[in-house]
Parts: sequence; C-alpha cells; structure tokens
Amino acid sequence: MRVVVQNDKSQASGVPVAVRCAALALAAAALLTGCADRTEPATGRGGPARAPDPQTRRAAEHARQAAEHARLAAAAHRWGLDRAPLAPPAPPARKPEITARDGFEVDGQEEEGLPPVFTTIPTRQKVVFLTIDDGAEKDPAFLRMMSELKIPYTAFLSDYLVKEDYGYFRRMQARGVTLNNHTLTHPYLPGLSYDEQKHEICGMQDIMKKQFGKAPTVFRPPYGNYNGDTLRAARACGIRYAPIWDEEVFVDHWEYREWDRSLHPGDIVLTHFRGRDDWNGTMVDDMRRFLDKVTREGYAVARLEDYL
Ligand SMILES: [Zn+2]
Repeated sequence: MRVVVQNDKSQASGVPVAVRCAALALAAAALLTGCADRTEPATGRGGPARAPDPQTRRAAEHARQAAEHARLAAAAHRWGLDRAPLAPPAPPARKPEITARDGFEVDGQEEEGLPPVFTTIPTRQKVVFLTIDDGAEKDPAFLRMMSELKIPYTAFLSDYLVKEDYGYFRRMQARGVTLNNHTLTHPYLPGLSYDEQKHEICGMQDIMKKQFGKAPTVFRPPYGNYNGDTLRAARACGIRYAPIWDEEVFVDHWEYREWDRSLHPGDIVLTHFRGRDDWNGTMVDDMRRFLDKVTREGYAVARLEDYL
C-alpha cells in the first residue's frame, strides 16, 4: 500500500490559525513593549539608564514567550505537524550517572572503565532523545525543519556514506547538532579482530577530527552489535559512551525494544538518514511521524549531550 503524505497543508486553506495567532502575539508583544517604554521617566539629563522595574521585565518576558510560542505553532503548521512540539526542560544541573544497562555489560566493564552501552537516560522528566544514524540521505528540508522547530538531535555518522558530502554535515553541526562516531564502513564489529575494530573506530575519529574539527566521545556500534573488544577499542580511541536505543522510528511504523511497546522517560530513539531511495517517504515525513507521537504522549525532545 502506498502512503500518500501531504507535505504542507497550510497551502490549501488560506491563512492558517497558527499564523494569525503569531501575528496577534507579535502585536501583543509590541503593545507591551510600548507600554514599558512609556513608563520610563524622561530625565533628559544623560544620567545612567535605569533598569526596567520587575513588572515591566515580567511583561516583556511574557510577551517574548507568547511570540515564540506563536512562531513555533506556525512552524509546526507549516511542516504539517498535528501540534507544536513541547519545549524540553532546562538541562539537568547535575548530570545523571550513566552505567551499562543490565545484561548489556561485558566482562571487565566496571574494572576496566569501558564505555557503557545503554538504551535510556535515567531521568524522571518526560523527555526522549533523538539519534539519527549512518548518513545516506542529505535532505536540506530536514535541516530547515529541525531548526525551525528547534528539535535537538544527535547524529552517528559512518564515513562510507558521509564522505560524498561532508559539507551537509558541517551545516548540521553549525546548527548545534553533535556529530558522533558510527565507524568507517559500518561492519558487524563482533566479527572483526580487536585491531580491525580499532581501525574502524579510531579511523573514524581521525576523519571526524579532520572534517568536523573534533573527535567525538560518543560512539554507536552498527546494528547495536558489539563485544568486549569493541568497547576496549572504543575506549582506546577516546570514546566514553556507547548509547544504543530503546525505540526505532521508520517513515511508516515504530519498533520497540520493550514488551510494553511504549515510550518511557529518558528513552533514546533511533532513526536513519534515509529518503525515498530506502523507504516510502522523506526525512521530513519520518520526523513528522516521530514528533506527532512524542508530542501527543506528552514528551519533549531533549539534547542527549546535556545529560552525558
Ligand atoms: Zn547504522
């Protein structure tokens, strides 16, 4: 069955509600700022400017928030979302302690200080983390969508796919996205020797340093498959964390690691840089499916690195 996805519903129906709201909120912001200006005493003596009083500051902040909310609602409408994504809470003041998930540790995990493999960040906040792998699809509309909606995400790149256009991922990095290591050629790592695994991981570290200015501290083994040598090699290459995922979103369905088939606070969600060559839709369609579900269930998307 072919799924037809409507990309931009706003074109069909004149001025969308969200846009009208944005205009109203901006007008309100201007009005409040205008009020604030009138409360300033006109001294005319060139003395030091007085800080605005708390009430004025609160009003201005409220207006700023209303304008931002309206801007986000308009962007959500433009990208065909059911509703605006929820804003994540401030990053935690104290980072949670990340350990290997039970059953996902290897021999020597603690003793050797190996990078932990985990699928969820320990938090009670209703947040999930979006991670996007490989790098085949390089869709400019996806970059615009995520910036306009202010959705944080983390990319895990494999060189054989990204090397044809490092520039696309530099633009992503310039928008605040952290680029992480997903090996040179995306092999099944447990089938390789320690030295071969180290070449795959350290080789990608070198390329990322050269192309993106920084060697990552976060690595994801392809297919989520690893052994003790993988984590030892990763540590030797400067890796501190090896997150995998608890849910995976595709353009037309979700897959779950847990029996309850639902999202949990702190879950790491996987998707891929894929487009119509690989599945029946675009990156934008995929993100629409992801965002509509997490928002509907009361989750915000937070930045993984803020919790590591
Ligand atoms: Zn992959």
